[in-house]
Amino acid sequence: MQITNKFNLPESIVNAIRNDPYTSGPCDISVTRLISPPRKVALERQHFKDLELEAVDMWWSLWGQAIHVVLDRAELVADTETRLTIERQGWNISGQFDRFDPVSGILTDYKVTSCYSVKNGSRSEWIAQMNILATLLRENGYAVNQLQIVVILRDWSKSQAQRSTDYPTQPVVTIEIPLWSEERCEEYIDERIRLHQAARDKLPECSAEERWQTANVFALMKEGRKTAVKLFESEDEAEAACKAVGDKHHLVFRPGKSIRCESYCPAAPFCEQYQREKASVVEE
Ligand code: SF4
Repeated sequence: MQITNKFNLPESIVNAIRNDPYTSGPCDISVTRLISPPRKVALERQHFKDLELEAVDMWWSLWGQAIHVVLDRAELVADTETRLTIERQGWNISGQFDRFDPVSGILTDYKVTSCYSVKNGSRSEWIAQMNILATLLRENGYAVNQLQIVVILRDWSKSQAQRSTDYPTQPVVTIEIPLWSEERCEEYIDERIRLHQAARDKLPECSAEERWQTANVFALMKEGRKTAVKLFESEDEAEAACKAVGDKHHLVFRPGKSIRCESYCPAAPFCEQYQREKASVVEE
């Protein structure tokens, strides 16, 4: 995998990105990959040498690493940044947790992310990741009583928080994550291994959820204004609203986007599914 620097970031920053000591250790799959789309993981594996990541896109990942280092200063009792493995169906699964307090049994993960990411609560991938890490801990002799993610909002704005009621009230938010039963964890892990093993033989398609697909919308536009007055997912509702506000308005169709494919999947240049979807949008 190559780290490119098309935006000419300072060399020290690019070197810090390139010299990331993180490794998933000797394993068949890491927890992060286990919860990722099987197609994405299989393609990244097939094309590993040719993958390119742009340094500027790794900036927030570097920022996240810095936060982890600083937060390590706080620790007196808890275990931090510890890698554990388990074996299922002949595969070794390796995962590293951020913080585990053996006294309270609370497992904590830190995530540096955008306000948009937490607007709709915790993502299903976060819930799965935390519950697999809980399985790793249990199998290594620890009792896990509670899961939580401490989300550090990198783009939080105080003025936006004062203006909007559905915006986080502070830049650091703790989200409680549901703790699955051991049985549910095992079922989930078995199913994910099966999917990833199958993907090595025959690539599955990524689902809309896995691609972080946004909905098609109809934008109600007003003459002389660049941004939409309102967005509608229903064409009927959009047309009714447009009629109601008069002839200085019109509707513009905005097709949904696959956010992960566009911006967060290094396998995208090698992905026939994504290339096909891009081509179909251009044709329309
Ligand atoms: S580019 Fe999109 S469809 Fe292709 S592997 Fe990546 S996430 Fe899946």
